[in-house]
Amino acid sequence: MTINDDTQTVELPGGVHWLETCFPMERRHHHISPYLLDGPDGSVLIEAGSMVHQDRLIERIEAHAGPDGIDAAILSHYDLPHVSNARAFRETWEFDLYTSFSGTSANPETLGMGPSTGCMHDETREICGRTFTFPWPPLVDAAHTMWVYDHDAKAMFTGDMGHYHEATDCRTVVDGAEEPVSVDAIRAYNEDALPFVKFLDPEKMRDAFAEIRSEYDIEIWAPVHGNPIVGKGSIEAYHERYAEAIEATRDAAWSGSD
Ligand SMILES: [Zn+2]
Ligand SMILES: [Zn+2]
Repeated sequence: MTINDDTQTVELPGGVHWLETCFPMERRHHHISPYLLDGPDGSVLIEAGSMVHQDRLIERIEAHAGPDGIDAAILSHYDLPHVSNARAFRETWEFDLYTSFSGTSANPETLGMGPSTGCMHDETREICGRTFTFPWPPLVDAAHTMWVYDHDAKAMFTGDMGHYHEATDCRTVVDGAEEPVSVDAIRAYNEDALPFVKFLDPEKMRDAFAEIRSEYDIEIWAPVHGNPIVGKGSIEAYHERYAEAIEATRDAAWSGSD
């Protein structure tokens, strides 16, 4: 079993760098990939990644941002693959921490990550000279989960919505020129990571995706657990497949029951 050890970040539009890291699983791979954003007043990290990838992430961030590392980090929710490196990063660099769970029972300070600033849903803030809003996600696995929308790159960073990828697609950015993410790759991920998906109404999810696209001007759909999708047409097609995957899961779960 080998882990892809390419040391470069993957460049996305608008000063967004994908810190692509993934786990090889038996049949396919699972991304747990933070993103690094260049701001006029410093570098912002979105999500902290998995501990398995800690050294590689530190190396890549320093290669891009210099030995002083990041100036701010934003964490979407308290779940190990999203936060577990925060403590080590703070021992390495000095930066401001923004989270959705400051002041909860999982307060970053209590957990040894040091002081943090709490972000509220729908709030807009300036961080390192970039403007961020924290939308309510249509699909979450923790009540306090927030998504992160970056106004400068028109990028939506989505906590737990995602998909698996094939061993040949670790660093693929899905735009019009690339094969779209398959319904099966979304469905398999959902069934492993978000078991409540079988209870969702695919029509309501379709509406929720359309609503978030009308509320936010989105050019980059940036999952932590999946390849980024670039361009409005590709994002809309991905949302349609996501609804189809939810439908397939629901139909399989309830077929055979009365
Ligand atoms: Zn997650
Ligand atoms: Zn991979």
